[in-house]
Amino acid sequence: MAGNKTFTMIKPDAVEMNNIGPILAMINNAGYKVEALKYMKLTKEQAGLFYAVHKERPFFGELTEYMSGGPIVAAILVKENAVADYRKLIGATDPSKAEDGTIRKIFAKSIAANAVHGSDSDENAEIESNFFFSQLERF
Ligand code: GDP
Repeated sequence: MAGNKTFTMIKPDAVEMNNIGPILAMINNAGYKVEALKYMKLTKEQAGLFYAVHKERPFFGELTEYMSGGPIVAAILVKENAVADYRKLIGATDPSKAEDGTIRKIFAKSIAANAVHGSDSDENAEIESNFFFSQLERF
């Protein structure tokens, strides 16, 4: 059975463009409730740990530089079929390939600065949520 939680970040480009509010509104309008939320800035080391699966990719340095270059919003979101529905809501990694109406199509600048993160599996949603939030920060 599909899980009911996913993890998201509003990435530095979207924060910089003042799009926290509009993105959270799209998330709420899609039926997600917020279980946990924080506004913070990652160090390059923390960004590297979060994206450790990509450490052999050629863009790893650029990715960790970018993700630690400004504040982000991190959140745990709850809804039935959370992971798959959220991937649909955010659209393709490359915003030029994302469908109309998706968060990345509307807000992302490029494949690197693509506005939001969304977990790609229930297992990763749990790992990523635990990376950012303690039990005391979940409601
Ligand atoms: P996602 O699951 O859709 O976020 O995509 P991936 O897991 O494949 O990649 C993780 C993140 O790495 C993406 O969201 C982008 O921010 C970044 N990324 C992916 N491909 C590229 C690329 O070709 N160049 C750069 N600079 N960043 C990339």
